[in-house]
Amino acid sequence: MHYETIAIHGGLKNDSEKGAVNYPIYLSSTFTQPTLGEFQDYAYSRGANPTRANAEKLAADLEGARYAFATASGMAATSLVFELLRSNDRVLINDNVYGGTWRFVSQLFEKRGLHYDIVRDFASYDFSQAPKDTAMVFLETPSNPLLEVTDIADVARRAHEAGLLVVVDNTFMTSWLQKPLDLGADIVVYSATKYYAGHSDILAGLVLTNERTIADRLSLFSNTLGGILSPQDAFLLVRGMKTLPVRMQRHQENAQKIAEFLQSHPGARTVHYTGLPTDPGHELQNRQASGHGGVVSFVFNSEDYDLKTFVDHLDLFGFAVSLGGVESLICQPATMTHESYDPKLQQEIGIVPDLLRISAGLENPEDLISELNTAFEAARRH
Ligand SMILES: *Cc1c(COP(=O)(O)O)cnc(C)c1O
Repeated sequence: MHYETIAIHGGLKNDSEKGAVNYPIYLSSTFTQPTLGEFQDYAYSRGANPTRANAEKLAADLEGARYAFATASGMAATSLVFELLRSNDRVLINDNVYGGTWRFVSQLFEKRGLHYDIVRDFASYDFSQAPKDTAMVFLETPSNPLLEVTDIADVARRAHEAGLLVVVDNTFMTSWLQKPLDLGADIVVYSATKYYAGHSDILAGLVLTNERTIADRLSLFSNTLGGILSPQDAFLLVRGMKTLPVRMQRHQENAQKIAEFLQSHPGARTVHYTGLPTDPGHELQNRQASGHGGVVSFVFNSEDYDLKTFVDHLDLFGFAVSLGGVESLICQPATMTHESYDPKLQQEIGIVPDLLRISAGLENPEDLISELNTAFEAARRH
């Protein structure tokens, strides 16, 4: 079946006797067992809950993965994956990743006896020369906020030769546009808060894998640590996933138009979006993904335009962190999402104060572009 059909018909078979088309919300912390020594599928909701299991099964069906875990947030998903590390292990991570992931490695790793190394460009990285005790590659592609593309299949092949586990944060793409497991990654993580849920109303995370041994350990950690997705949020996540392909299509159409507009406007300097043929990641992205997603970033021309005036003249674009919701958002990564980066590192990799990140919503693109245009006009220095 095709992705769009799975989105509507995937997941668990509805066990309702009433013919309800939606899988119910099981608000039950515990489940009775038939008798002594006999156990059913569900015992206690930290371990498994039917509504959560439905969300996990649907996510797995969409990914073409065998195992899925739904967590309370994207960071809970990332934490769960980092739990696979043993004391002293090292993680290779690309230099621009989600700010919270950066905060985790830079502020929590040390007290857990873990280490990380920043990789500027995985394409030229020699895995056989990785420091001793390196156990995992954790990467985002396209990266956040600079939208740089990494060749997943190439990294997976070479990292596996060196015996490393390969994890991809696929939040910006979703399984509709990119399937890291098919490209050779061992684990894929999502902030399902973003495109999967899609309406800026819940926080959720997903971890998926095809490998039984990894899934068994994740299951143990998830049940033990307890950072699981609640049944009500699992229901909303499923509702979001059903429309993921249609939303994603519009998100990226709008993003493409916004990126093209910005590229033609003197108020924007460099525009980062792999959908632009001039983008350095364009070709690779076309090879490994079926689209370019809904996030665009660009360097604002502060010499000729005033940034604060520009931002203050935006209204359809909410000035907020996050992405992947129906409404368009704009933010300044240096102060809002990547503020945990050392200022020197920010400067080095290009997370400058003039960098803005846009999440294209589902509004009519003409209204969005018209508003950007008006805001630039108001912000022009005379
Ligand atoms: C938002 C985000 C996260 C963290 O997810 P939360 O749901 O906010 O905890 C992780 N990775 C990426 C790429 C994100 O955009």
